[in-house]
Amino acid sequence: MKCLSCEQLSFQIICKECQNTLLIPSFHKRELEHDFFNYSFYSFSEIEEFITSKYYFHGDRVFNILASLSFKKFAQGFEFDELVYSIGIDEHTRHEFSQTAILSRYLKSKNIKPLFNQLKATNIIKYAGHDLEFRKKNRRKFKTNLTNKKIILVDDLVTTGATILEAKKILESKNNEVLFSLTLADAKI
Ligand SMILES: [Zn+2]
Repeated sequence: MKCLSCEQLSFQIICKECQNTLLIPSFHKRELEHDFFNYSFYSFSEIEEFITSKYYFHGDRVFNILASLSFKKFAQGFEFDELVYSIGIDEHTRHEFSQTAILSRYLKSKNIKPLFNQLKATNIIKYAGHDLEFRKKNRRKFKTNLTNKKIILVDDLVTTGATILEAKKILESKNNEVLFSLTLADAKI
């Protein structure tokens, strides 16, 4: 096949050369609310062409590569004195795959156990192209049955942080502790 980025022939949908040059993750930290941080690995502009692949059939292969370059490495270096659970936000599927479920799956490690379909949005509305005001008026209205867990929230992209904070709030209302959130990219860096 051809590399999605440089269009050279490649065994993977993003060739090794592009993975090693364009997709070197760097660690970004952003405070979403007092003492609560989101960590991300890329700026949105850096990987926009790959992130938008989630709308296409080959998106699962792209996200598997991105996740192994970033989330997997993070998980391998993550130390904590008890088991932490990773929960993907918005796991409803587009083309037979959920990009947040893929990211979350790559966190599986000594201290992190991914749990799937634990946070259900009862309002599946598309936010792309809409402003903060629209998002505020159209909350996801998450539901969860999780209780008493330590949690890492996972999403592909953080923009305003409103969705992540909404998910955090509902989890906290069931006595869970959300340690931080982890996204592939940050739209504000
Ligand atoms: Zn390439």
